[in-house]
Amino acid sequence: MLKASADREALCRRLPQIGRLLTDPAMGRLLTLCPRNLVVEAARRVLASLREEILRGALHDEALDLRLETLARSIAEELQRMSHPSLRRVINATGVILQTNLGRAPLSEAAIRNIEQVARGYSNLELNLETGRRGRRDVHAERLVLRLLGARGAAVTDCEHAAMVVNNCAAATFLALNTLAEGGEVIVSRGELVEIGGGFRIPDILRKSGATLREVGTTNRTRIADYAKAITPETRLILRVHRSNFRIDGFTEQPSLEELVALGQQAALPVFEDQGTGCVLRLEDVGLRQESNWIRSVGSGVSLVASSGDKLLGGPQCGLLVGQRAILERLRTNPLARAFRPGKLTYAALEATLLAYLADQEDTLPAIRMMRMHRSELRRRCEALAARLETSALEAEVVAVRSVVGGGTTPGATLAGSAVALRYPAMSEEALMKSLRSLDPPVIARTRRGRVLLDLRTVFPEEDAVLASALATMEAPA
Ligand SMILES: *Cc1c(COP(=O)(O)O)cnc(C)c1O
Repeated sequence: MLKASADREALCRRLPQIGRLLTDPAMGRLLTLCPRNLVVEAARRVLASLREEILRGALHDEALDLRLETLARSIAEELQRMSHPSLRRVINATGVILQTNLGRAPLSEAAIRNIEQVARGYSNLELNLETGRRGRRDVHAERLVLRLLGARGAAVTDCEHAAMVVNNCAAATFLALNTLAEGGEVIVSRGELVEIGGGFRIPDILRKSGATLREVGTTNRTRIADYAKAITPETRLILRVHRSNFRIDGFTEQPSLEELVALGQQAALPVFEDQGTGCVLRLEDVGLRQESNWIRSVGSGVSLVASSGDKLLGGPQCGLLVGQRAILERLRTNPLARAFRPGKLTYAALEATLLAYLADQEDTLPAIRMMRMHRSELRRRCEALAARLETSALEAEVVAVRSVVGGGTTPGATLAGSAVALRYPAMSEEALMKSLRSLDPPVIARTRRGRVLLDLRTVFPEEDAVLASALATMEAPA
């Protein structure tokens, strides 16, 4: 033990001093390209990681020789990493279309172009071009939201309805509860006291909004009479939360939105639905069961509906609030609305996304295209990728898979497709996943029964070649 630690100390002494290292001719070129302090920082990091490997016992004499010979290259690579933003593009080969960890919905070309236009210069974000006076930023998306909902069959009119945009659906829900129910009671079914993910729990949000929770019914069954019985002079709001990320099957009962609306009218109480998905499509068309739908929710006559912009709508991250004009007026004048307002780039992307639906061009939205991608097309792409990997060190085989839409949108429902199953001789699936993440661009995959799956449903077809080249650079393990 003592000897081993003395050996390791001796190896550490072979690491060069920074000052001497910088006089090395190979480093001279780096110093002409980058500021000296950055080169010093990169060299420190590389040396520190070598020292750590030596002390861990992971580097012996010969391996260290090799690493010292290629030191300048390692420092150049570290410099490259240091000059990258930490947020960067990755290839999503998980098959999960709306993966929150990977940024949910990719934007359409039109949305990206519109962001570019607005970002590059000034815009009429809060300027009414007709009057020349100060305008409201959310008028931009409001008109299109109402037109889209109307065009797809929800009974909305410009004089009765209004819409506004906030940073995300969590903010939308919080703003609604705070505005409509602070200091009073909110009635909600025990079956809907859910955690949406990322720590968004309905009971916590309710408490923070200043409202008191009034739970009714049971986890699996809640009747309209349970709501009616719970109404007191303290009641401010009836809340419905869409169970977006799980399903309750079997002996269940839940009143329809229409029943809640009728009760709300009788008792002169607003009804608010946290709908979540913002789905405008008929999911049955791609073989998925329809759980909830933005159009149907707004059309049911509830006072207010909150949805996400970057789930099934396929747009930018934002929260969309649609409902009765008088209620939206109250939300807008809540001082919190100012804290939740999105930036101009969000409006730019959202308007372009809404316009795609209005032009019946939703296939220009990547999330929709991925959902609709036919299994035969996926199989063909997987076969082409597997063929390109034949000469590489990877073993690749095309297998049938089912993928999920994700983002807490269609619990339990899957889409049939294909994936390339990878194996690397003498490498665990975790190690292979890690190697894939270290590629440029990083590749994010999923595992199944000891193999790593590349599900091409979420890989853009134009990324297939990039993916194949990145995989081909993987060398056989020593
Ligand atoms: C996803 C979801 C949320 C949270 O939406 P964000 O836009 O991520 O804040 C809230 N409620 C429901 C029902 C959801 O499905």
